[in-house]
Amino acid sequence: MSIKDLFKFKRRKNLEQAKPSQELISEQELSELWAQCPSCKTTIYTTELKANLMVCTKCEHHFRISSYDRIEQMIDADTWEEINGSIKPTDALNFVDLKPYPESIIGAKKKSGATEAIVTGIGKINGLETAFGVMEFGFLGGSMGSVVGERIARLAETAIQKKLPVVLISTSGGARMHEGLLSLMQMAKTSSALLALKKHKLLFISVLTDPTYGGVSASFAMLGDIIMAEPKAKIGFAGPRVIEETIRQKLPKDFQTSEYLLKHGQIDLVVSRKELKKTLAQLIKMHK
Ligand SMILES: [Zn+2]
Repeated sequence: MSIKDLFKFKRRKNLEQAKPSQELISEQELSELWAQCPSCKTTIYTTELKANLMVCTKCEHHFRISSYDRIEQMIDADTWEEINGSIKPTDALNFVDLKPYPESIIGAKKKSGATEAIVTGIGKINGLETAFGVMEFGFLGGSMGSVVGERIARLAETAIQKKLPVVLISTSGGARMHEGLLSLMQMAKTSSALLALKKHKLLFISVLTDPTYGGVSASFAMLGDIIMAEPKAKIGFAGPRVIEETIRQKLPKDFQTSEYLLKHGQIDLVVSRKELKKTLAQLIKMHK
């Protein structure tokens, strides 16, 4: 065997070893590496997107983000303490649609990594202690059931006890159909819990993100002392198609966007994600 043959053999062996790992790159792994902007269709490297707080580097489209990613973006490192995470929903109506409600909950937990459609706790925003709640759209469309209501009510109670401002970040499709009337009752429950903050002169800031609809937009999300929204977030009660069919009129193109709501006086500010933490801190400081 010549030296040349030895190298040939070694190269073939290396190629054989390399082959299986190339086959292991699945479509899922590829999609985790790259993301396509739903607005401008640009393909962006996920690491770059994450470094830009999940905002498109080309067109500033704000991607939907999970509750825990939001906490990481908004709350100072090592200051977050989740509260009431163990409150679980019950299936009072024995509700079944495509599958029984308890099965839907197990699936939603697995999919989102959250225990319910809202995560609540205490954390610091640029050094300012805040009672903070963020909704999780990945958990049954961020729908408001009895646990969402209870966690918000208890967050307000904790804020009163500790004399803290409250910040709630919403994203929701509305009330949770699996809980019927119990779900609708949360509108009144959250509203009265947050009203109690006023009596104690505590600040409540509501941040609306894409999308915020139905029972959430018709209750606590629109009750903030200050209401702000991320750019181009879709915010409304019923969807535009339902409204168009009901009133038989064509709606404006920017209908139910943050910018439209700002123009018509329904919200106070449109704030980009990169400015959100700083803006919240400034407002909290101002009201201290
Ligand atoms: Zn884009």
